Amino acid sequence: MSKLPLRARFATGLGGAAGRVSRLTGRGDGSVIGGVLGLRVEPELLRLLAVGRQIVLVTGTNGKTTTTRLIAAALSALGQEVASNAFGANMEAGLASAMGRAPDAPYAVLETDERYLPAVIKSTRPKVVTLLNLSRDQMDRAAEIWLIARRWREALAQAPDCLVIANADDPLIAWAAGAAANVTWVAAGQRWHEDSWCCPECGSHLRRDDLGWRCGECAFARPHTPWVLDDESVIDAQGQAHELDLALPGRANRSNAVMALAVADFFGIGVDQALPFLRKVSSVAGRYTLVQRGDCLVRLLLAKNPAGWLEAFDVLTRGTTPVLLAVNAQVPDGKDTSWLWDVDYRLLRGRPVLISGERRLDLAVRLEADEVAFELADGLDDAIRRSRATTLDVIANYTAFQQIRTVIGRTE
Ligand SMILES: [Zn+2]
Repeated sequence: MSKLPLRARFATGLGGAAGRVSRLTGRGDGSVIGGVLGLRVEPELLRLLAVGRQIVLVTGTNGKTTTTRLIAAALSALGQEVASNAFGANMEAGLASAMGRAPDAPYAVLETDERYLPAVIKSTRPKVVTLLNLSRDQMDRAAEIWLIARRWREALAQAPDCLVIANADDPLIAWAAGAAANVTWVAAGQRWHEDSWCCPECGSHLRRDDLGWRCGECAFARPHTPWVLDDESVIDAQGQAHELDLALPGRANRSNAVMALAVADFFGIGVDQALPFLRKVSSVAGRYTLVQRGDCLVRLLLAKNPAGWLEAFDVLTRGTTPVLLAVNAQVPDGKDTSWLWDVDYRLLRGRPVLISGERRLDLAVRLEADEVAFELADGLDDAIRRSRATTLDVIANYTAFQQIRTVIGRTE
């Protein structure tokens, strides 16, 4: 802290105090308000807080909170403090707060909002930028993600000292990272293809086969990947396979873990050294948490966009465990629920399905179209009562998820 200029030190102190007040008055977890105030006093705060640290930025449409958590866990193998915005406050204020709270941490792993990535690269001069995937969120349409990819590409081209660790299976990510000086490519998989049928270079159709994807017209093709997610294993840059036995469920999390392992490797932490630390992560900001509610064991899954729903379906308990789907349409969720039509719900056929949330009727119409039987429920406890189940999977979008967390109490 002592190496910070006076005004930045004041700004950080003020921000910290505001964060404590915000937590004490129950107005939030305090991770943003402190940074907002601090940045108002010292607009250069983020840059000043970044000086002298080794910084890793993590961005993408899905998985950034989890991947950030996994990378921070892996770096803890170095035995030094790691600053991180573990609760997903991923714009400038959240990043400043995270570093302000850990003034002496030599490492910072920062989840970064897709739109802010270019500005954050400029102010923090990261050692590593991790690019996971890029698909439609509930708020954006296709044109917007192409624009984001273009901005990333320009920002990375101007950051020659930074290593980009990028998912080669996502064509838009490959294109965005393609102008960077140093890239480590990872075959981390891509479940959601709907936003990447066109070549970002020339606009022609992309072709897909067992070897990945390539443009039918120009030379743009999937880069060679030293790191590979191979079902339940990871193959490292030396060609060595390691079993990926994580505590977090599902393919999407194995994909996040492979990205995290490639980042750890840059810091000299091998896969065998990092894996025990990754295994300690069993829930992330309430996701995947198991909570006993009366006689029922409830598992919480967050799904904010079409790609996220596919990932959530992937980790549903096998068999016919009932599932509660909860959908709201407040500002953080996006007011428009038309994205519900991008998700294929047929996978849920044969399973008891309950639906709740402000937009449960929109969801009802959607499920009817997919011929999925369902029952309306008035929140979590009503769903438990109606299902009479001993285990219940819950898939909720952003504010519906937060409401359920408030009902069951924040366990993490
Ligand atoms: Zn092309």
